[in-house]
Amino acid sequence: MTILAPPAAGFEASAEIVVIGAGACGMVAALAAEGAGGEVVLLERDAVPSGSTALSSGLIPACATAAQKARGVSDDAATMAADILAKAHGETDAAMVAHLCRQSTVTIDWLNEHHGLDLDVIDSFLYPGHSAHRMHGTPSRTGGELIGALTRAVAAAEVPIVTDAHVTALFAESDGKVRGVRFSRPDGGQEDLGCGALILACNGFGGNPAMVAELIPEMADADYFGHRGNQGDAIVWGRGLGAELADLASYQGHGSVAQPHGILITWALMMEGAIQVNLEGRRFSNEHAGYSEQARKVIAQPGGKAWNLFDAARHQLGMEFEDYRQAFAAGAIKTAGNVDELARVTGLPAGALAETLADGAAAAAAGATDNYGRTFAKPPLSPPYHAVLVTGALFHTQGGLSVDGDARVLRGDGQPLPNLFAGGGAARGLSGPSDWGYLSGNGLLTAVTLGHIAGLRATELTRATS
Ligand SMILES: Cc1cc2nc3c(=O)[nH]c(=O)nc-3n(C[C@H](O)[C@H](O)[C@H](O)COP(=O)(O)OP(=O)(O)OC[C@H]3O[C@@H](n4cnc5c(N)ncnc54)[C@H](O)[C@@H]3O)c2cc1C
Repeated sequence: MTILAPPAAGFEASAEIVVIGAGACGMVAALAAEGAGGEVVLLERDAVPSGSTALSSGLIPACATAAQKARGVSDDAATMAADILAKAHGETDAAMVAHLCRQSTVTIDWLNEHHGLDLDVIDSFLYPGHSAHRMHGTPSRTGGELIGALTRAVAAAEVPIVTDAHVTALFAESDGKVRGVRFSRPDGGQEDLGCGALILACNGFGGNPAMVAELIPEMADADYFGHRGNQGDAIVWGRGLGAELADLASYQGHGSVAQPHGILITWALMMEGAIQVNLEGRRFSNEHAGYSEQARKVIAQPGGKAWNLFDAARHQLGMEFEDYRQAFAAGAIKTAGNVDELARVTGLPAGALAETLADGAAAAAAGATDNYGRTFAKPPLSPPYHAVLVTGALFHTQGGLSVDGDARVLRGDGQPLPNLFAGGGAARGLSGPSDWGYLSGNGLLTAVTLGHIAGLRATELTRATS
């Protein structure tokens, strides 16, 4: 990943705007640029666009949307921003949070109205830390369906996506103005493409073990659950261009990935009354603090694993989710008629397990808050029980290039680079400096909102300078 001097003879082929990466951010940026009259080309290293977006649950938080209003959900940007800031303990850019919350309304309504995305609100439960039902997803609530819908929208808008195009270098002037990119092909060939503006939508560095070990050492040995092609290229180029980088130790973890199946088990179960115990049959945390920081807590338990325990009612809730259904079909979800059988199918010590379940049931019956700070407000678990063995994993990194409200990449002195934009996992997120600041949906929130803004502003820039 290098920065090269632009060729003296210029480029044989050029586009006004080049977008690197065809995940949610890149697709949305391309749609926005095309809609504003820009001439845009998307470059994607894979043969078929997927990215971490396809691996995700595809749920995008947004406030005051038409979809919320249709379901009678009352919400606004100030409330949403307060939720994000509270989760990040205020250790993030409050102005950017407020800006992107306002933008979320515009972006989700535009994706539905202009690009037929069919994003609706999940109103069956509240995600941890959100004070309103504001998670928007496509009907199956999968990232695969989301990226499929975006791919169709990009095709309908006739935006060219060049796949199997791995960008390996940028061409830039000494003042940081990007003139073009170089990408390699699977046959070893390479091609150059000039541009008037560049949008970095190539996510973070979760797929690069050396960078994870350097920047997030606590997750160096954890499973990575995101897209392997996200190698930190935006950060490497940003360093080369003198860009400011922020919150590089920030990440989204998840404390509930089925073992050994590697399937995400929705945290909705925890929010609705499930509990998590270690291999000694004991609870070890406030499961409602957040699923991101739970990754580290699970990994710290004996064997680095835990069991999620719940019952038939919560199992039915899980079955609303495609990945849970897959886990069930794969045999990851165990069933037991009583505590003794639960001990047998999980291998947990029967005495400790019985005590833990009894304590949980008593807390739930009383609506009590336990020593970890969890308030039990849902009905107690009752037999038959269900259980799934899980571990903690790294989902995606949240640190990256500092951008301003126009998604322009900032230099170390706070001034924007001439024509470089970034969004999604390539840009600094809204989650503060560590793992505890990630509020559900912060990933796709910055992917779609900054992508939307970047596409519009890059088009304005190239139109103004052409
Ligand atoms: C299991 C899981 C569940 C998640 N669930 C949610 C959720 O429900 N809600 C939420 O908000 N977030 C969720 N996230 C996080 C979310 O997936 C990401 O924040 C989001 O997808 C980032 O979008 P992006 O467009 O920045 O990156 P991506 O979708 O990863 O796209 C980046 C693209 O860039 C390409 N690329 C990289 N480098 C190059 C290069 N040099 N040249 C060409 N192409 C390149 C990659 O191949 C990739 O296609 C989840 C993540 C995981 C792993």
